[in-house]
Amino acid sequence: MVGAGPAGCAAAIVLARGGAKPLLVDRDAEAGDALCGGFLSWRTAQRLHGLGVDPETLGGHPIERLLLFGEGRPVEIALPQRAFGLSRKALDTALRESALAAGAELAIDTVRQVEGLHVTGRAHEWRAESLFLATGKHDLRGTARPRSAKDPALGLRVRLAPSSGLAKRLANTIELHLFDGGYAGIVLQEDGSANVCLAVRKSLIGEAGANPMELLARLAAGHPHFALRLEAGWREARVDTIGSVPYGWSAQATEPGVFRLGDQAAVIPSLAGEGIDIALASGIAAAEAWLTGAAEAAPAYQQALHERVRGPLMWAGAAWGLAERPAITRLGLAAARLAPGLISRLVDATRLH
Ligand SMILES: Cc1cc2nc3c(=O)[nH]c(=O)nc-3n(C[C@H](O)[C@H](O)[C@H](O)COP(=O)(O)OP(=O)(O)OC[C@H]3O[C@@H](n4cnc5c(N)ncnc54)[C@H](O)[C@@H]3O)c2cc1C
Repeated sequence: MVGAGPAGCAAAIVLARGGAKPLLVDRDAEAGDALCGGFLSWRTAQRLHGLGVDPETLGGHPIERLLLFGEGRPVEIALPQRAFGLSRKALDTALRESALAAGAELAIDTVRQVEGLHVTGRAHEWRAESLFLATGKHDLRGTARPRSAKDPALGLRVRLAPSSGLAKRLANTIELHLFDGGYAGIVLQEDGSANVCLAVRKSLIGEAGANPMELLARLAAGHPHFALRLEAGWREARVDTIGSVPYGWSAQATEPGVFRLGDQAAVIPSLAGEGIDIALASGIAAAEAWLTGAAEAAPAYQQALHERVRGPLMWAGAAWGLAERPAITRLGLAAARLAPGLISRLVDATRLH
């Protein structure tokens, strides 16, 4: 299992429970704090329970409504069930603990290359019986995902220190602020800090002189609601970035023995807040396929996952396409004010059923 994020850990838990002896390999000795919106959908929360992880016990901030900000007054949508805001550090640490408790082993190494079932790390080499590829946003030599978008999406994250203003504004809420060329999602996390995570077109950050701080300043200047959330002190906060996210891609085929999981299998536009669920679901499905069919089960698993994510990827792609175009957003939000059920349906269509 290369990568001990949500996908790798989910697979390791199911494999270990099924009597296998999975080895998780990760570059970080302690779970890092992956760049992510930190929104755990109700489906993600349900799947986590099955893996022995409870977002509520971890202090996840409960979320019951979505507030959409474009032009004019925001649109409020009730979520069908309770979701949570949780840092990836807390989530990934709990998943690792659950995998180790189930009987998985963990080796720390940075994998450089994968050739068939031969894995080369900085310090070790492995010849695997089967390989579960779960390095998420990071491609490995030999298994890289195609990049075709002319103006790809980039991820940006800034953490805002806890404050009474943010606690009040963001209680029970996930906010999505829609911009020309991207969006920002904001949720409270277990320690009361606010996770502000953006996906924006590369050209947008180019216009800001490739300076994330300048981009945030420009967005705040043009969007008063967003500026209110940033409050004072954001200029001192650290901004994390991640380049070129291949939204909409999914792996259709693989070779026997190689199971692609999580973002290495399918990348849903992050606006949907369903990437972690796809990561968990793919890890569980791959492990179940291996337990019944061993290495030979990989191609059928990959094809089935591709079919399963096709709908959510398509609807999330459509939502991302609408959200980043102000003229269409204006019409969409006007329609949603009259019929909030339209957005609820779109939210549902982007879930993995
Ligand atoms: C801007 C943005 C916001 C998002 N917001 C949300 C959200 O709010 N909710 C949601 O559900 N999804 C969200 N997502 C999607 C979500 O982050 C991913 O879908 C999810 O993290 C995928 O899980 P994974 O296990 O496949 O990979 P990851 O979470 O990326 O984990 C990969 C693991 O592999 C390890 N690794 C990487 N390279 C190597 C290597 N070479 N050697 C060894 N180990 C390695 C890493 O250390 C890590 O532990 C967002 C994505 C983006 C880009």
